[in-house]
Amino acid sequence: MNVPTLVDHGAETHLSFCRVCHAACPIEVDVVAGEVVAVRGVKDDPLFEGYTCIKGRQLPDQMRHPDRLVRHQRRRPDGSFEPVDARTALDEIAAALRRIIDEHGPRAVATYTGTGAYQNSTTIPVTRAFHKAIRSRSLYTSLTIDQPAKATAMFRMGMWEGGLQDFRTADVLLAIGYNPLVSSFGPSSGLQGTNPFVELRRARERGLKLIVIDPRRTELASFADIHLQARPGEDAAILAGMLRVILTEDRHDAPFCDTWVEDLDGLRAAVEPFTPEVVATRADIPADDLVAAARMFAAASRGTSGTGTGPSMAPHSSLTEHLSLCLNVVCGRVNRPGDIIHSGFFLSPETPKRAQVAPPMRPTGAAARFRGLHGYHGEMPTTTLAEEILEPGDGQIRALVVSGGNPAVAWPDQAQTLAALDDLELLVVVDHRMTPTAERAHYVIAPTLSLERPDVPHLMDRWFPMPYTNYTDAVVPRRGDVLAEWELFWEIAERLEVELELPGGTLPRGVRPDPGDVIDLAYGDARMPVSEMRANRRVIHEERALRVTEAEGDAEDRARFLVAYDEIVAELGVVATERTSAERLSGFDPEQFPFRLTSRRLKAVLNSLGPELPNLARKGTTNKAYMNPLDCAELGLDDGSLVEISSPHATIVGVCEPAGDIRRGVISMAHSWGTGSLTDERVRAVGTPTNRLVTTKDGFDAVTGQAIQSAIPVAVRRVTDDESRG
Ligand code: SF4
Repeated sequence: MNVPTLVDHGAETHLSFCRVCHAACPIEVDVVAGEVVAVRGVKDDPLFEGYTCIKGRQLPDQMRHPDRLVRHQRRRPDGSFEPVDARTALDEIAAALRRIIDEHGPRAVATYTGTGAYQNSTTIPVTRAFHKAIRSRSLYTSLTIDQPAKATAMFRMGMWEGGLQDFRTADVLLAIGYNPLVSSFGPSSGLQGTNPFVELRRARERGLKLIVIDPRRTELASFADIHLQARPGEDAAILAGMLRVILTEDRHDAPFCDTWVEDLDGLRAAVEPFTPEVVATRADIPADDLVAAARMFAAASRGTSGTGTGPSMAPHSSLTEHLSLCLNVVCGRVNRPGDIIHSGFFLSPETPKRAQVAPPMRPTGAAARFRGLHGYHGEMPTTTLAEEILEPGDGQIRALVVSGGNPAVAWPDQAQTLAALDDLELLVVVDHRMTPTAERAHYVIAPTLSLERPDVPHLMDRWFPMPYTNYTDAVVPRRGDVLAEWELFWEIAERLEVELELPGGTLPRGVRPDPGDVIDLAYGDARMPVSEMRANRRVIHEERALRVTEAEGDAEDRARFLVAYDEIVAELGVVATERTSAERLSGFDPEQFPFRLTSRRLKAVLNSLGPELPNLARKGTTNKAYMNPLDCAELGLDDGSLVEISSPHATIVGVCEPAGDIRRGVISMAHSWGTGSLTDERVRAVGTPTNRLVTTKDGFDAVTGQAIQSAIPVAVRRVTDDESRG
């Protein structure tokens, strides 16, 4: 149990875990008179060994911030806000939703769950239950604008039930555009944010070879044996080139491919145009380095390849993910019978982990009204949501509940997003501060903050590199009138007289459930009951590790990987004829848009969360435009110069910082900064939203709808402060 410990200075110390990002670092929380006064890592934690990052250590400031909302807000007709008690706000919201459902049908009611609410273990299950209860399919999350191909590519190719080989046992790691030393995030088989510097050092000591593809010499790339500092957006060509080297030199795992791959010759033919010389020219990397990287990856006995945010938001994102998976498949980088799966998957239902392929499938859900896109895994694509709001007709969305997200600066195409938010009949935003999105809401619901609620580490449960469990109680009482996200939906469901069905049973009606009980019900189909997790905090369960079992069924009837299905071959054909991936945008002019803007993470910020906290604001109040010093010199840009950045779609103004770790021709900027205005007069104080540059309607990924949110073709010029104000 989480029994408070009295320490010398009179504080009680509680054990919990951080939920600023998904990494779930265990923390000791000092509390004095109900106030969180200090947070630090837990040194004796068997997995994290005391690791935390600067963001998590600011939790006391987040809890006590003078601008934190502890009362709900209602917009007045003049646009200002007034406090409103929970009962009144909920009554009015429920009445508006009932009217909208009656007039337009249930599909007119949508929800969007952003990164902030994703860390809350009950938000997604209860939101899904709410949609089921009111029969609305209009469920959207940040997942469909942030690496959605990870949720589709492996299903389309066929998924190895026993999972991919993982970082902890790998002799080689191929990291394509990710940097867990800053983001605390890697693909499921890659380096994770659980003490990443120490994990990397240990892996290097045991002989791990590291290959990084990134236009920036990132913290991770600085440790690499081979760093392909490529032009952004050319990852598909690079991976196709690596596959070509491996297949033409017969460095693949032939026995594995003979048994488990349906169409290897199709892949061999499709990557044939990607010779080292062609790829070298296209990506501006040494051909020899490409060949060496392919040979290094294939030579190891165990290893893994995975992608991160940059390539997953760049053109050809589904193809890039597919080719990364192909590298794993052709080199046989899957767990074999007897291998231990890194994570315990304790919060997931028990499923077979056999050494065989789950049949390829198309995770196709309901049809969106635009561009032939579909939902998948019960979600609709967020890149269509603004149009679903703006475009009249059957299925038009009229009400939106945003939990822990900031669409005004985060969704692709800012102008379209702002128009959509303003067009809604009802916008409810659940957030602890008045974000640019909250400022446009009809109601702002003040939520509990992480240390005021119990949780399980539901995201990391699949990514922990060991079979590790944790649980936290609330460590401080709630303030003011705040509600947990699940309570908002439960309260509305009560008023709409519908029931919320969770995997473990229906949430009780009439009597508010205990928050811990909601977690039990939300994960009622888990392989480890939540009650057992509650009793096993910060524990590695070697004895409960999942072990891969032998394949079942007749060999000739077993499913095989599809590595070269028609759409993949066709898209590789397109890539082979492009000069640059920016040609995905119709009418692209390489002379006019010679630079590429790439997304990046910052240590002190998670999307739009961070700059409001004093110790993080000291690290910077704007999302700087990092550029190579030679480019800066050519353009007459100094440190702090304002730079106008124009895509074929729109313009932003950024604050330049020369950075020698960026390759030439690249601008590296964090996303989700700025305000809900379409101009950047206050860029030095608040930053600018790079997604203003993005269009949802051109160059998007045909499977997921992912817009080109990284490797965006742009033009750059110096402007003065006066010019930037228009
Ligand atoms: S890495 Fe994420 S979970 Fe860990 S302390 Fe930082 S913000 Fe919190």
